[in-house]
Amino acid sequence: AASIALFTSDLRVHDNPVLHAAAKGTGGVVPLFVLDDGVRAAGFDVPNRRAFLADCLADLDEALRARGGRLVVRTGDVVEETARAAAETDARDVHVAGGVSGYAHRREERLRRALEAGGRRLHVHDAVVTALAPGEVTPAGKDHFAVFTPYFRRWQAERHRDVLRAPRRVRVPETAGSGPVPRRRDVSGVSPGLAAGGEAEGRRRATAWMGAPLRRYAQGQDDLAGDATSRLSPHLHFGTLSAVELVRRAREAGGDGDGAEAFVRQLAWRDFHHQVLAARPSAAHTDYRARHDLWRRDEQEAEAWRTGRTGYPIVDAAMRQLAHEGWMHNRARLLTASFLTKTLYLDWRLGAAHFLSLLVDGDLANNQLNWQWAAGTGTDTRPNRVLNPLAQAKRFDADGAYVRRWVPELADVPGLEGGAVHQPWKLKPAAARAEVDYPDPVVDLADGLARFKQARGLE
Ligand code: FAD
Repeated sequence: AASIALFTSDLRVHDNPVLHAAAKGTGGVVPLFVLDDGVRAAGFDVPNRRAFLADCLADLDEALRARGGRLVVRTGDVVEETARAAAETDARDVHVAGGVSGYAHRREERLRRALEAGGRRLHVHDAVVTALAPGEVTPAGKDHFAVFTPYFRRWQAERHRDVLRAPRRVRVPETAGSGPVPRRRDVSGVSPGLAAGGEAEGRRRATAWMGAPLRRYAQGQDDLAGDATSRLSPHLHFGTLSAVELVRRAREAGGDGDGAEAFVRQLAWRDFHHQVLAARPSAAHTDYRARHDLWRRDEQEAEAWRTGRTGYPIVDAAMRQLAHEGWMHNRARLLTASFLTKTLYLDWRLGAAHFLSLLVDGDLANNQLNWQWAAGTGTDTRPNRVLNPLAQAKRFDADGAYVRRWVPELADVPGLEGGAVHQPWKLKPAAARAEVDYPDPVVDLADGLARFKQARGLE
């Protein structure tokens, strides 16, 4: 009998335990992707990710065709469509990657029941989406790690599974009916600078990354203008690259420097957040550790933050990068999140929702838990640290190149020293300030800090 490989966050043929297992059988394989109504209903199907997904599906179809197969695409409820495809092709086994969100858990349970009712079996594969499966390492007596450092120690010592080859041939039963593969050009509202998706593109980027850029990573990681991170996050989100394979390749390519180690550590952060969400699905929406209810409400300030008009150039540059590319540098994510939740003292959920509406790598585990980390409601062991945007700017954008790139109003401000481009309100004389069409700060940093301390009961 045929087997179904149900693709979810693993849109690749290389190192894919789901496809690998399904292709082992002799009865043919149905490589299935369902454009799921549930994902759409949850508001997760936003233009940037939909466009990137279209690239991924087109590329996956091509990779499968090169192996004698094709991608089967359906639209509807993922459980119903999978059961229907199984009935049509008389598939006995369905393979899928283990997911981490509450939604993924419910999908898995529903799938299992629907398939078993038809005498079929669901096989859930671990370490497909993450390098280590959630729950694979745990502290004594607990179901997950709440602190990164001890998690990372265990994560590093653990043996990761072997990397799997792409199947050589994929034979798809003729009875497997498919809708059209979606196309990127049919998606509107996409950020103009959105990267291209697909496994071939992901592998090309990964290979380029695994040389000199990887070895320089530890030095350049936080340099905003240098843009010296891997930009592999959307590929990890859609699974066009495998985390297991990236860990392996980075360790092999790293040489003597500390770049590979720093990069692998970031991949472990990804696993860390995934294991938190898998154990506590409610952390996607409610405070994970420290509960804070005193958030201010100020729609005007929230909108200034979203549109990159807070009057703090470093914050605004970052928010505009997000709108333009559907992606933002990690250091910029940290400082804009701190600014929203600690300086403006607005609810982290508001910021997380805005990020998810644009980020091409927008991911429930990474986004929500990084937001909680930044807001001090999550896993940060120093939850009350506040990132001062001016200090951040001077440290990570010393000559203002990042600000000049993204805030064109400030690109030609004459006579500014590196530090001054970060505080245009100091421009002298007043006539020079008036010439620049850029807002004054929405809040005074000292006032913001005082308000924060009061709300948190500090001092
Ligand atoms: P690199 O620096 O090259 O790191 C390599 C990979 O490690 C990344 O691709 C990513 O998969 C992983 N990684 C790096 N940093 C983190 C981290 N802090 N947490 C988890 N994984 C990490 N990342 C997402 O993938 N999706 C999100 O929705 C997301 N939202 C975020 C929201 C906030 C407020 C913050 C502070 C961070 C968020 N991150 C998110 C984490 C991080 O900013 C991005 O993964 C990173 O910037 C992606 O760029 P890169 O691929 O060049 O990263």
